[in-house]
Amino acid sequence: MPTSEMRRLGLIGGMSAESTTTYYQLLNQGVRARLGGLHSAELLLWSVDFAPIARMQAEGDWDAAAAVLSEAARRLEQAGAEALMICANTMHLVVPAVADAVSIPLIHIADATAEGLKAQGVRRPLLLATRFTMEKAFYRDRLAAHGIEAMIPGEAGRERLHAIIYDELCQGVTDIGSRTAVMALIERARAEGADGVIFGCTEIGLLLEPDAVGLPVVDSAVAHVGAALDFALGT
Ligand code: GLU
Repeated sequence: MPTSEMRRLGLIGGMSAESTTTYYQLLNQGVRARLGGLHSAELLLWSVDFAPIARMQAEGDWDAAAAVLSEAARRLEQAGAEALMICANTMHLVVPAVADAVSIPLIHIADATAEGLKAQGVRRPLLLATRFTMEKAFYRDRLAAHGIEAMIPGEAGRERLHAIIYDELCQGVTDIGSRTAVMALIERARAEGADGVIFGCTEIGLLLEPDAVGLPVVDSAVAHVGAALDFALGT
């Protein structure tokens, strides 16, 4: 049982470790902001080695990736987690298998993101994410169920963004040229009618300041943490 009135979160992280660090900081800062004093988050973190997972993604072996994450989810539940978080957008592709493996709830990053968009009146945002998240149906369909119609960059933009995520941000590199390139994608989308931007990869916030974007922004990692805090603290 948790030692406080807070519910214990189970995080599947390491995808990448760069953004899992952000989750850990934001969860603890959020609990302190809400409860004050020496309060900090009750959580368990199962952090994977991202290299084999990224290989499975690239090879399209989603069943193997689902098996790794399902095992992590079971272990977290056995250890006392009361809800699960997958600390990445892309790996929400395997949510059906992971959710089936446990009896605790899964806090879905796209639902949290959609709530953040709706709160700002955004209906047609640009989705900045990995190729998998931008191109496969699992994520945009989940947003569509909330009435959000996500736009994605063109082919060349998607390729560049995907490379920035895996070759730079997931490896702790932030490059000014990459920032300029992503801002250009945003400017083009704005001209085409985008009314907001989703940082739909948990590392994008390491590259761009939401305030510098010039459109309403929802950072999926921040929204996900907010939903988890509501769950943990019963608010
Ligand atoms: N963290 C990223 C995301 O939110 C990308 C890494 C991954 O493929 O898991 O999608």
